[in-house]
Amino acid sequence: MAYRWWFQHYRYSLEPPLLTAHGPWLTREGIILQIAGDRTTGWGEIAPIPWFGSETLDQAWQFCASLPSGLTADAIANIPESLPACQFGFAWAWQQLHEDSPNQSIKLNYTALLPAGIDALSAWPGLYEQGYKTFKWKIAVYSPPIELEVLQALRAALPGDAKLRLDANGGLSSAAEVYLRECEGLDIEFLEQPLPPAELDKTLDLSNRFCTPLALDEAIASPRQLQHCYQRGWRGVFVVKPAIFGYPQILRDFCDRYPIDLVISSALETSIGRRHVLQMAQELQNCDRAVGFSQG
Ligand code: MG
Repeated sequence: MAYRWWFQHYRYSLEPPLLTAHGPWLTREGIILQIAGDRTTGWGEIAPIPWFGSETLDQAWQFCASLPSGLTADAIANIPESLPACQFGFAWAWQQLHEDSPNQSIKLNYTALLPAGIDALSAWPGLYEQGYKTFKWKIAVYSPPIELEVLQALRAALPGDAKLRLDANGGLSSAAEVYLRECEGLDIEFLEQPLPPAELDKTLDLSNRFCTPLALDEAIASPRQLQHCYQRGWRGVFVVKPAIFGYPQILRDFCDRYPIDLVISSALETSIGRRHVLQMAQELQNCDRAVGFSQG
């Protein structure tokens, strides 16, 4: 059976821009899918992040344009591995079309993203007042002496029940040890991707030498990479962005097989992709940890 479907481009500005070690992220662009079923409409979102290893928006768009106007289960099951954001978007739109109760309630703890640099110090109190207990701060954006001073002040200022996670987006290189030494006495929930994805051996070594838990994120952007890092012995935290990881079932199967410390994270989707990603978090994530999302 073939279903009629449509796709549409979206683009919005990120204000303020998201500052990471990859540089500033100014606009979010993606594709919204709509499949018309007999009783309901299935919605999906393709939200690529090419610098994380997914397809580009152009590649996703060309793929959508190449599909016929009638969509079949076969077409959805055969999206190439090179288009993981498309796999995610189409699989969820299709699943929604065939779900009996698409509006499950979602109960999760969320993470407040603090601005990089010294602005974090003035930003956290308002967020804490809103109920956030987990905070994420991007590092490797400013120079180490500045960030280490802010880090000390931030951890000292945060209440005892607040968790702080750091995200270097692979940008620390030789400074990683300096940061980790500083973290030793600071009760940091975990430090995400201190080194570039290719430096797994060094990251494994750091995880053995310091007490602060480390997380992989950029290094496990695809099922192949996740499998590789697990087999090489990674047993720290696994941060996965389902929106660029591929078919949802691949991650479900992996988590069934291996009990990993999983944190589901945002790829800055719109509310459509967000709902699907949060449903996966509810299903799969370690419930002691907050999801890598702020409350939308
Ligand atoms: Mg990250």
